[in-house]
Amino acid sequence: NWGITYMAKYTPMMEQYIQIKQANQDVFLFFRLGDFYELFFDDALKASKELEITLTQRDGGKEKIPMCGVPYHSAERYIKTLIEKGYKVAICEQVEDPKVAKGVVKREVVQVITPGTIMEGSMLTEDENNFIASITPIQQDYVIAYIDLSTGESFVSLIENEFKDVLSELYNRPVKEIVIPEAFDSEAKEQLSHYLNVTISIEDGEDVMEDYQYLLGNLTDKRLIRGFGRVFQYIYHSQKRFLSHIQQVQYIELTQYMKLDLYSKRNLELMESIRDQSRKGTLLTVLDKTSTAMGARRLKKWLDRPLLSKLSIEERHKQVQALIDHFFERDELKEALKDIYDIERLAGRISYGNVNARDLLQLKRSLSSLPNIKRIIETIDHPSIQALLPDLKPYEEIYQLLEEGIAEEPPISIMEGGIIKDGYHEKLDQYREASRNGRQWVANLEAEEREKTGVKSLKVGYNKVFGYYIEVTKANLANVDLSRYERKQTLTNAERFITPELIEKERLILEANDQSMALEYNLFIDIREKMKAYIPALQLLAEKISQIDVLLSFAIISEENNYVQPEMANRHVVQIEDARHPVVEKVMQEEFVPNHFNLDEETDILLITGPNMAGKSTYMRQLGLIVIMAQIGCFVPAKAAQLPVFDQIFTRIGAADDLVSGQSTFMVEMLEAEHAVQNATENSLILFDEIGRGTSTYDGMALAQSIVEYIHHHIGAKTLFSTHYHELTSLEDSLTHLKNVHVEVDEHEGEVVFLHNIKPGKADKSYGVHVAKLANLPDDIISRANYLLETFEATSSIREQESTEEQLTLFEEQRDIQLTKDIEVLTQIKDCDLLNMTPMDAMNLLYEI
Ligand code: ADP
Repeated sequence: NWGITYMAKYTPMMEQYIQIKQANQDVFLFFRLGDFYELFFDDALKASKELEITLTQRDGGKEKIPMCGVPYHSAERYIKTLIEKGYKVAICEQVEDPKVAKGVVKREVVQVITPGTIMEGSMLTEDENNFIASITPIQQDYVIAYIDLSTGESFVSLIENEFKDVLSELYNRPVKEIVIPEAFDSEAKEQLSHYLNVTISIEDGEDVMEDYQYLLGNLTDKRLIRGFGRVFQYIYHSQKRFLSHIQQVQYIELTQYMKLDLYSKRNLELMESIRDQSRKGTLLTVLDKTSTAMGARRLKKWLDRPLLSKLSIEERHKQVQALIDHFFERDELKEALKDIYDIERLAGRISYGNVNARDLLQLKRSLSSLPNIKRIIETIDHPSIQALLPDLKPYEEIYQLLEEGIAEEPPISIMEGGIIKDGYHEKLDQYREASRNGRQWVANLEAEEREKTGVKSLKVGYNKVFGYYIEVTKANLANVDLSRYERKQTLTNAERFITPELIEKERLILEANDQSMALEYNLFIDIREKMKAYIPALQLLAEKISQIDVLLSFAIISEENNYVQPEMANRHVVQIEDARHPVVEKVMQEEFVPNHFNLDEETDILLITGPNMAGKSTYMRQLGLIVIMAQIGCFVPAKAAQLPVFDQIFTRIGAADDLVSGQSTFMVEMLEAEHAVQNATENSLILFDEIGRGTSTYDGMALAQSIVEYIHHHIGAKTLFSTHYHELTSLEDSLTHLKNVHVEVDEHEGEVVFLHNIKPGKADKSYGVHVAKLANLPDDIISRANYLLETFEATSSIREQESTEEQLTLFEEQRDIQLTKDIEVLTQIKDCDLLNMTPMDAMNLLYEI
């Protein structure tokens, strides 16, 4: 709203600013002015609040302009704050030397930093990917593409029909920004920001894929190419440089992975707890014993995509078993992995051009521990582990280059020297020698001059403004031969002098320093460029190391927690002996009570009854988690387990009320049930906890029963269905594939003890009042409730019968009366002599009726 019409009245620099700002409307424009990045107008008003920095004004010609700024050397901190708040920042630099510029120095936006395109190490979370995704609707389908600019990974996949599936696909994945086309369904857009809480960006640019055909590999599907193009284009335009580390796009065939919808991911608390979206109490925390950041990121990817191929699942199980068997090597390997830095992101920084000497040292150290890792892997004499070997190359030539070239304790900056080793380059050695000689000469000068003059307090010093000087106190001035000296600076009680030789040496030293710094910089860039050729190799290495890290993590936790290798059955059976809940068993004070699961080929549905707080939902979640653990390749918390490969898991568990989107518990429940029954197959797992409890008793019971029947007749998926409608237990008589189980409760002398034990058959009571007592409701309420309960139970069966009979008769009577009336009216109309009636007569007849 600082319109172009006023432009002529601003100073030339402000005109330049306004012009650049016009092209970068939705970002904070960091405008380089000397040692500062300045923000103006609305940007300044907003940024001063968000960053808590002082708002000032600048004379812009026409008027005073709001302004705030940050020093360029500490800008990263401020940029980070803005990015974390979901904003974008454009860096606008001076792109010509102010000394040679005619008029206003030319400035350009050199980079746009957005939540999905950060590269600076301090802004990234180590153990998490930083994806930018794009959604491209094509007819009724959606193409989703991802790029992690920091690691170079890129993916594309196709989702058919359902926008819900798009949400499920993106949920739980570390997506920081989503790029969509301008014409995007507004309701869908709202859902995106609601469920995923991401920055949304628009990209409708022209096609830039032409220069980057190699990224497409053997992708031929036009839709996928278009979808990938959207996210790539966005990065291309914001980064303004060639990105050689972006890897060939991988097509993710979603049908190769277990499908987990948004609700199930949430309900099962795989990576995020329902309560506070933290990591506490999630499956991830139990599973994650990885040593490297790359491993931690891979674990999340695996957890996000459990496998469907029995062979691949079993391959991972074998690898885990091999690592468990070789406990000595396992410990060694764990130790060795600790020396591996984030090779994947280092490769990204090499390509991006922001790698520094310290980063390259990290890479060198990582490479130096590879021969050891390789040796350990070689000793694990197991074919599935040996299969990892071919790609584990230590790349000696890179190691050698870094070992010879990069200094051992380099500074962060690559502009100030000290980053290249002595002996790497002859010319550099010469400059260093010259500088060393010069400094040595200066160091000797003090002693020489003291001797010549006899003044003990004479000093040779250096400061930035005047350079080298000889300092003599005023009291001693009489003792020196001033004709040799040239006065430079006068202090209160001393004089500072220079000599022609000192000036000459200083010039030599400074020149040598300047030249060596410039040369070091060039040598460094040279090494960096040489490294670029190895980026794909380093990325492959990173992938293998991350796999080893995750498998090792599985082996460690499987042993520590007494997990067992599950047998992946070809038949449709779930047989688990002494199963435990992997997360609850860790956090519980008391012993966790293990339970069996026994669903043979003839049993699809377990109908679980038992009082509140007995352990029904724990039992159900436990199965969901065990299935996921097995299918990502981990062992499972049980004594023995036989499982089929499940294609999907559907859940309706716990209180995942969708308060934000304004849907009631009951509505959410129905939506989740709908989603499950529409999409489940006989190879799916359904976990329904107390479906129908959100509405009145009869409604709820009726719905629960019809849902169970539907699953039984039409789907045949393995299903755990808990309910407090005891009436439903009679379904066992009519539904052949349904079995009752209940949670055992011990009751004596009025005290109830929950044993958390799942037993065959149905429960007899619900013990709700008992739970109320546990919750410390006042005694008055408890005893009154107990009394009422008894009377209800005594009269309920009689009353139920009576009331249904009553209702029925009343209904029938009313229906008869209505029917008689209808017939009367019909007869009247049929009998009237329409042709001999005036319109008024007809009106009157109708009125009478
Ligand atoms: P429900 O779904 O029947 O209301 P929950 O599954 O929520 O009950 O479990 C209630 C409590 O019992 C939880 O706090 C849980 O820690 C504990 N619990 C559940 N199952 C077990 C078990 N097998 N062993 C020990 N404690 C359990």
